[in-house]
Amino acid sequence: MKFGGTSVADAASISRVTDIIKQYHSGGNEVAVVISAQRGVTDQLIAVATEVVDSPDSSMVGPFIGSLRVRHMKALEGSAKDYVAEVAPLIEDRLLKLENILSAVHNLRELTPRSKDYIITFGERLNSLVVSAAFRQQGIPSSVLDGCEAGILTTANHGEAMALHEGEKKIKGSIVPLLASQVPVIMGFMGCTEKGVLTTLGRSGSDYSAAIIGAGIDANEIWIWTDVDGIMTSDPRVINDARVLDSVSYLEVMELSFFGAKVMHPRSIEPAMRKDILVRVKNTFNPDHPGTCIVRNVRDDSRVVKALTYIEKVAAVNINGAQMIGRPGVAKAIFTALSDSEVNVMMISQGSSEANISLIIDEAQADAASESLAALAKQGIVREVTLDRDVCAVAVVGSGMAGAKGTGGRIFTALGRADINVRMISQGSSEVNISFVVKQEDGPRAVRVLHDEFMLSEECND
Ligand code: ADP
Ligand code: ASP
Ligand code: MG
Repeated sequence: MKFGGTSVADAASISRVTDIIKQYHSGGNEVAVVISAQRGVTDQLIAVATEVVDSPDSSMVGPFIGSLRVRHMKALEGSAKDYVAEVAPLIEDRLLKLENILSAVHNLRELTPRSKDYIITFGERLNSLVVSAAFRQQGIPSSVLDGCEAGILTTANHGEAMALHEGEKKIKGSIVPLLASQVPVIMGFMGCTEKGVLTTLGRSGSDYSAAIIGAGIDANEIWIWTDVDGIMTSDPRVINDARVLDSVSYLEVMELSFFGAKVMHPRSIEPAMRKDILVRVKNTFNPDHPGTCIVRNVRDDSRVVKALTYIEKVAAVNINGAQMIGRPGVAKAIFTALSDSEVNVMMISQGSSEANISLIIDEAQADAASESLAALAKQGIVREVTLDRDVCAVAVVGSGMAGAKGTGGRIFTALGRADINVRMISQGSSEVNISFVVKQEDGPRAVRVLHDEFMLSEECND
């Protein structure tokens, strides 16, 4: 069971988590718990680390450490009063370590990917102590493990590390023996390389931690506890009548999360899918709601389109040049240049004349992409590269689209009726997803139009 930032944000929510764990644990289930940092803490850690490296003094560190102390001590006192004396010194020790590393970053004027990874895990480091103490306060034996102790072995790419299968044995060895006698609390979001160097799994990485642990211990189910009732037909912050889906397939969730649905980390489905483990998404604040089941094959509910998502901050790269016509190797040169600059390509489309290739990338990587492609233009491999930041990508997801005729027609007719201009279209061969690009300001309206077109707010009749 993984609990996200809102679910463990303060004493009141941690007490809810404790009630949930108590219920399932005393009901005879073996449970391992993965927790996130308290809501907002990881953002603050990133902000302070980036600020302190360049600022003339490190005066912001003291007040920041102080605010973390107040927040975590309040949560501890409110959820585990008998353990304050034992746990407060451990919190102090972690705060001191954080203060020291932030001072070192300032003194060296250097924030390496490695030290950044270490710093941004402190939200989980502090919060795990509080949550585990809260369990003990309610009579549930518990101990704390960091991601490395839990056995999460990863690649060395800091900030976006991926789990290695070789870690599974270690996970089994470290977690399974604990389960009969206690509920271990594992710090999400982090792992380590074979050499023991700490890594992080990308933002929202605790979902991924939970899936890696679940697969490692061959769990019966992996539960993601969050602040909404389950996976919905669209982001409830964009579509106010979005509906909770009873069940979705692994592939559908992968497409949704890849295309920005914040509800789950994009890589968190892979470990579960590999082991065919059912994933359930549930609401910590409404635990009686059944939530959403994620499985390999969903019972056919006759719905062609199931959910919609959009990514606001993308950029379109248009590469033009008659030189590309009939010339092998141009695409290779383009993608090699982008990959050398570590630019991740989300969507690709090429006109049949071959004179134009359009790509969609993360807006944050737009400058890196345009620099690396400018070099190709200089070499005469392409003629012109233009960048458009005023776009967003929308994805229409549903496994029922595979083989269903006319879905594309319906999507683009509805958008045309709403006077929304589509700049680029892409459909994966899995046909679980049709994605397209519109002007940034049209994004939410495009989602609204299609939510209505496919009647996603209405209950399914079968
Ligand atoms: P946690 O802290 O529990 O990991 P997140 O904030 O990362 O929670 O993810 C949950 C949020 O994801 C929800 O509050 C919701 O606003 C957002 N979200 C975006 N798309 C969807 C969707 N399709 N279904 C459910 N929630 C979504
Ligand atoms: N605390 C980390 C983040 O904010 C990981 C997570 O919450 O899943 O990204
Ligand atoms: Mg999350």
